[in-house]
Formats: sequence, structure tokens, C-alpha cells
Amino acid sequence: MSDCIFCKIIAGEIPSEKVYEDEHVLAFLDIAPVNPGHTLVIPKTHSSDFLDTTESSLIVVVKVLPKIAKAIMWAVGADGFNIGVNNGAAAGQIVPHMHFHVIPRLSGDGYKSWGHRKYGEGEALKIAERIRTSVENSRTIN
Ligand code: AMP
Ligand code: ZN
Repeated sequence: MSDCIFCKIIAGEIPSEKVYEDEHVLAFLDIAPVNPGHTLVIPKTHSSDFLDTTESSLIVVVKVLPKIAKAIMWAVGADGFNIGVNNGAAAGQIVPHMHFHVIPRLSGDGYKSWGHRKYGEGEALKIAERIRTSVENSRTIN
């Protein structure tokens, strides 16, 4: 996609610090890392977000995540890592080319995980029922 910043990185039109590349996947350092070594792993075929990504693109990207995560752990001496996708503006997605963040974590790096809340009486059952119904419906659609 011509106006996509990550497609431009794939095409070599914008510089990046590449750490892995194959026929279908590119991984490069995030320009504004949560921690040093923070890497973005993207399919070379453009898709705007997670739900817009084909199963085959997802598979090729997910397959290389363990290799990249292990390499980052070794390179920066991390104690753990987070893998995540921000999907949609409400979830913090800024760049509309689907990407996985691999974020190395150090014990005591000070970042907190997400906040947690409690379900109200009967709320979990209601929501689970809605999700189950939706999963069933999508099974018949696809
Ligand atoms: P997201 O909020 O999930 O869309 O994340 C987009 C990420 O892309 C952010 O963490 C940015 O720091 C990163 N980013 C934006 N432009 C570049 C670039 N030219 N090279 C490397 N990373 C970038
Ligand atoms: Zn793109």
C-alpha cells in the first residue's frame, strides 16, 4: 500500500533496523521502544489490522515469533517478554499495518500490566454466553 509507513519500510523507502527477514515476514526495531530491543514483526502483505489479516499471513508471522523473542531475550539479557497486537484506535493502534510487538521485559523495569476489574453478579455468565453465541455464528458463516 503506497501510503503505508510499514509498507515503505518493507520496500526499503524508509530506513529501519531490521533484525529478521524472510519471504513473507519482516521484523525491525520499534523506533520508540518500551525497552531496548522492542521489535515489530509484520507480514509483508499489507493488512490494516488483526481482523483484516489473512490466516496464512498470521501463520507465517506467528511461526517466527518464538525465534525472534528468544533472540531478543539473548541480545538484551531480558528476563521475559510481552507479545501483543494493538487492534483499533481504542486499543492504541497508530500504524494501520498489522504488527506484533515483541517487548523485552526486565525484572523491576517498572512497567505495570493492565488493570483488573471484577465482574458483577451474573455478568460473566451473560458475557460468556454472548461470546459463545458469536463464536458459534461465525463458525456457520465461515
Ligand atoms: P501501534 O501503536 O501498535 O500502532 O504501534 C506502532 C509502533 O510503530 C509504535 O510503537 C511506534 O513507535 C512504531 N513506529 C512508528 N514509525 C516507525 C518507524 N518508522 N520505524 C520503527 N517503528 C516505528
Ligand atoms: Zn502496509
